[in-house]
Amino acid sequence: MRLILMGPPGAGKGTQARVIAEYFGVPAISTGDIFRANVSQGTPLGKKAQEYMDAGEYVPDEVTNLMVRARIDEPDAEPGFLLDGYPRTLAQVEELDGMIRHTGHELDAVVVLTVDPNEIVERLLNRAQTDGRTDDTEDVIRRRQEVYGEQTEPLIGVYRGRGIVHEIDGMGEVDDVTKRIFDALDVVSQS
Ligand code: AMP
Repeated sequence: MRLILMGPPGAGKGTQARVIAEYFGVPAISTGDIFRANVSQGTPLGKKAQEYMDAGEYVPDEVTNLMVRARIDEPDAEPGFLLDGYPRTLAQVEELDGMIRHTGHELDAVVVLTVDPNEIVERLLNRAQTDGRTDDTEDVIRRRQEVYGEQTEPLIGVYRGRGIVHEIDGMGEVDDVTKRIFDALDVVSQS
């Protein structure tokens, strides 16, 4: 299974990614988590990424693409992977296409979580209190939403053109959202 999970910041991608990836026995690869781990360890990659993350901007494609390429080349991703937070730009879509083509496989599905933007700001402000993410301040949240709309939302149309998009209502209880995703993906795995 090679899956992408998309949706605006705060749509619940991380939570759902872990459950879906476990079900399919593939790693959930979150570019945000990898960047945060690098920031907290003070690596050169973390130093490059931090200022962009704190401003709610995207880390440059070259940096992000290299990081994902290295992660996908690891043995645990050989049977497949679920990408959470990548690709986010058209350049990243092209890069990912090349990476997957190189392995002789195809992208199976793109799950897009849809949510109410006002509810999201609240979810993220709550998360700021529990997780202490430095990019969960109201200004940065709004900027991340803007950047998502400008740079990432157009990707849905690209994948829709390939007939692999499943738009899932991301509102409500976590378990209900998971069930909706699984219902949609069963269709894919049976086809
Ligand atoms: P996330 O945890 O997915 O919300 O990502 C947190 C931050 O990491 C984003 O606001 C970006 O600054 C950076 N980031 C994560 N994934 C990407 C990506 N695919 N391209 C560029 N920047 C990214």
